[in-house]
Amino acid sequence: RPSGPAAQRPSGPAAQRPRGPAAQRPSGPAAQRPSGPAEIPVTGTRPGKRVIVIGGGPGGLSAAYTLKKRGLAPLLLEATEQVGGRMGGERIDGFSTDKAADFFPVSYDTTFRLCEELGVPLTNLSMDIGWHRHGRWVVTTPITSLGTLFRNIGPFRTIGFLSLRGIWPTMKLVWSLKADARHLNYASTHRIADLDTDETYGEYLDRLGVPEPVRVTLEGFLGLTMGNPEEFGATWIRAFLAEVLFKPDKLYTPEGGCSRLSEALAERLGTAIRVSTPVRRVVIENGRATGVVTDDGFMEADAVICSVPATRALEIMPDLPERIRRALGKVQYSFGIRVVLGLDRRPLPPGWSAALYPEDDTPSLLDRTVNLPECAPPGKSLLDLWVGESRARDLMELDDEEIARTLLADAHAKAPPGSALPQYEDVVFARVYRWHDAICKGLPGMFTAMTRMRQDMTEDLQNLRIAGDFMRSPIVNGAITSGVETANEVADFLEARS
Ligand SMILES: Cc1cc2nc3c(=O)[nH]c(=O)nc-3n(C[C@H](O)[C@H](O)[C@H](O)COP(=O)(O)OP(=O)(O)OC[C@H]3O[C@@H](n4cnc5c(N)ncnc54)[C@H](O)[C@@H]3O)c2cc1C
Repeated sequence: RPSGPAAQRPSGPAAQRPRGPAAQRPSGPAAQRPSGPAEIPVTGTRPGKRVIVIGGGPGGLSAAYTLKKRGLAPLLLEATEQVGGRMGGERIDGFSTDKAADFFPVSYDTTFRLCEELGVPLTNLSMDIGWHRHGRWVVTTPITSLGTLFRNIGPFRTIGFLSLRGIWPTMKLVWSLKADARHLNYASTHRIADLDTDETYGEYLDRLGVPEPVRVTLEGFLGLTMGNPEEFGATWIRAFLAEVLFKPDKLYTPEGGCSRLSEALAERLGTAIRVSTPVRRVVIENGRATGVVTDDGFMEADAVICSVPATRALEIMPDLPERIRRALGKVQYSFGIRVVLGLDRRPLPPGWSAALYPEDDTPSLLDRTVNLPECAPPGKSLLDLWVGESRARDLMELDDEEIARTLLADAHAKAPPGSALPQYEDVVFARVYRWHDAICKGLPGMFTAMTRMRQDMTEDLQNLRIAGDFMRSPIVNGAITSGVETANEVADFLEARS
């Protein structure tokens, strides 16, 4: 058995050799060819044109990959030791962790196309979830048939959806989502901005008269990744509910976890990636980016794509036109901590993927190996513990071991019956991932501002583009779509000039 947590050595996409494309078996939605942007054509090489891509998350990786396909020579600069960003992961003694993103809803057209192109197979997730409500546990299961619908009636009463006070507002909520279903998705063609209002998600629930028990349940579910969603923009959360809560049987993830897609992109880019190279500043003169400044000095570029969270983009691009800086200032993020434990046992009751504690700050628990057994050696498992917002802020400054011990102790205090949570001393390894820019909040008006900003950029900036999830929709498909889109714009621009 590998030794205790401290003795583990991280490794990641740059160091790993994922299984080659030939060995991959595309499956799931990618194989059904969801509609999306046409495949990006290869248009011959233009040697000597250097495009610098800043940031190695899904946005930057897909931008650099697209540039390479267009015959350009991208150079991707990543601040940390590993590419992947919030879609990164680690391989640790036969385990594969995902540091953040862990599933793709069915509308992820650009992402599925990329998975198919790179030979990254997908797995359909099925999540039985335990809910701790009113001091007891109930289990919900994805509704795929009349049988599963009936099985959920009791649990839905307990968690509020079918309670006397909850049923009518829940129906209003469902109708409100169904009415806008055409726009409420994450496809590259989505028109979420058309529904953007000045309403927060909390105000939206107030308007529908959603009572406390249902709000608590929804928050428990949303908090799984977001922390406190009530201050998020209503449009963004409505899209999330439409995609995730009401289509729970249509969630996918690459076999081995979402970070496998980052690995596959990194593999294709090879030496075009430079890690541990934070960009300190993008030099902009007269609406033109001339290059970037790193700790090694100035690097000249014919074009620059900046694909970092908006908060970081503001720091490294102080010379952006004022209207673009103002728009970027509208983007805010939640806060969160994920602890990943490698275990020699199944931690949750048989069949459960997750245990949620909507009523308090106990971390949500997710056994990823229920759906992704390949993420751990045989007989072992991976348990993710997540806390967001205020609880995460309380813990952020503690050292890794203290955070892991604290969250594990919280989980023990309310362990589901039949679970086998370990003591800290028994875990095979522990990893702590801190996220200061966790999930973009999609604040009211943000989608409208970003749509306008995309237009402003083409007017104000010649060879500089901003990519990232916040530019399209604040999830992986938004990041990848914006990466592909900006890379094509830059390639077209350079082509027109040559
Ligand atoms: C806990 C958690 C769970 C999530 N779950 C999901 C999910 O299940 N499904 C989903 O679709 N989305 C999920 N998301 C959101 C998703 O991860 C993001 O939308 C996506 O990763 C954004 O991609 P990006 O490329 O825009 O930014 P990032 O992934 O943040 O990548 C930005 C990169 O830029 C680098 N960088 C920053 N500053 C600099 C600099 N100055 N110089 C060089 N490099 C720099 C960073 O190190 C990072 O690698 C989750 C996020 C979190 C935090």
